[in-house]
Amino acid sequence: MVRTRAAISPTGFPHIGTIYQVLFDYAFAKKHQGRFIVRIEDTDQERTVAGAETKIFSALDWFGLSEDESIRKKGPYGPYRQSDRLPIYKKYAEELVGKGKAYYCFCTKQRLEELRNQLQKQKKVPMYDKYCRKLNSEEVKKRLQTGEKFVIRLKVPENITIKVRDELRGEISFDSDNVDDQVLLKSDGYPTYFLAVVVDDHLMKITHMVRGEEWLTSSPKIKLLYDHFQWDIPRLYHTPIIRNPDKSKFSKRQGHTNVDWYKKNGFLPEAILNYLALLGWSHPEGKELFTLTEFIALFDLKDLKPIGPIFDLPKLEWMNGQYIMKMQRSKIKDQILNYYKKYQDLRLPEDMVEKTVPLIQERIKKLADYLPLCEFFFQPPEKYEINLSSQKELFSKIVEKLQQISDWQAEELGGAMQSLASDLKVKNSEFFMALRVAVSGKKITPPLNESMEILGKTECLRRIELTIDKTANNC
Ligand code: GLU
Repeated sequence: MVRTRAAISPTGFPHIGTIYQVLFDYAFAKKHQGRFIVRIEDTDQERTVAGAETKIFSALDWFGLSEDESIRKKGPYGPYRQSDRLPIYKKYAEELVGKGKAYYCFCTKQRLEELRNQLQKQKKVPMYDKYCRKLNSEEVKKRLQTGEKFVIRLKVPENITIKVRDELRGEISFDSDNVDDQVLLKSDGYPTYFLAVVVDDHLMKITHMVRGEEWLTSSPKIKLLYDHFQWDIPRLYHTPIIRNPDKSKFSKRQGHTNVDWYKKNGFLPEAILNYLALLGWSHPEGKELFTLTEFIALFDLKDLKPIGPIFDLPKLEWMNGQYIMKMQRSKIKDQILNYYKKYQDLRLPEDMVEKTVPLIQERIKKLADYLPLCEFFFQPPEKYEINLSSQKELFSKIVEKLQQISDWQAEELGGAMQSLASDLKVKNSEFFMALRVAVSGKKITPPLNESMEILGKTECLRRIELTIDKTANNC
């Protein structure tokens, strides 16, 4: 059975790069009726942030990528949080020592620091000098008995080639002399990533290990550990690193790496997933818009391209707009209402939102675009984007004409205004711009006649009359 996992470190906000990984794990597992597991990798206690776990799961739920096994969903291979598995790592680290594949190291922090400085001065890559590898077992025993602090390190064989198969890149060879004798178990009893990931992926029966390209350099250590334990290594896939349009690394400094940023800006999770799916994968028919279900049916891990994709926010915004365009009107209405309640603490009147949806459905890209475009439906303008003080006469004529209209419908209004403009010999563009700004305060709005129909006769007349009273430049 296919079993994939996301090994998430709870070190901050939920990152969009994590969702990118999860999407592939999730889709591949679902395609094969397998299981998708979330493991919390909190072995670096200093970097662990309180509350981060909860945020991870709420992000997964928001995207509809909920896991089958995790700390919140019981499964047969728990516990699913690494800090709850410490005795397991200790046992396996000691097993490796017993097999002669790992060793105790008693080097002090100070010694290691001096060593690092020395190597740096010589412009060499900082690596452990294997000092404790030479200690004899008697001495090790004695020092352990006296309670001296220790770590357990991986014994990397000298002068061999370590071959790792990456399913996307083929076989990659590493010279073992460039591979550090990695710490596997730290002096505080916590494992490092290397030991924990191998032990957990093995015990949790992970079949496909999908992780970011930045982990590729750790693969010789991972491979050695599998060999030392005599376990089968899962299939390895390193997904490409997402980049900014200027090719720099898509880093946490940009706001839009945080999943919450997308929520707050009114993106739809299904549009984000569609966009992420196309970073490193392409639809066999070249389609740009497809559902998660369609993606699951078509996707295969082997089709991922190991080429750094560019994260293009305007493209994602466009895609989000496409999803809004295709959505049922009642659903958009609900989404807008929920969005403003949740993220801006505003309770918009449902009937008004419902009326305006047909006018804006093709005009907004994100839910957050709704109010800037539609605010004037809920309150009269406080400011006008152009100066209307010279238009008093025009507005008086408009009011006169509008007052005669009994059937307050967009078409009627449009016809009446059109004929007034030509009677007065005022340029259409000028006429309608003045009217638009008088009613809404803005130069760009949804279609004017329809907007006026929604606002109603009394309110429109009130607003236009108000502009007649205002003489000051209100810009
Ligand atoms: N814990 C690592 C991270 O959060 C995951 C590495 C892996 O998937 O093996 O980036």
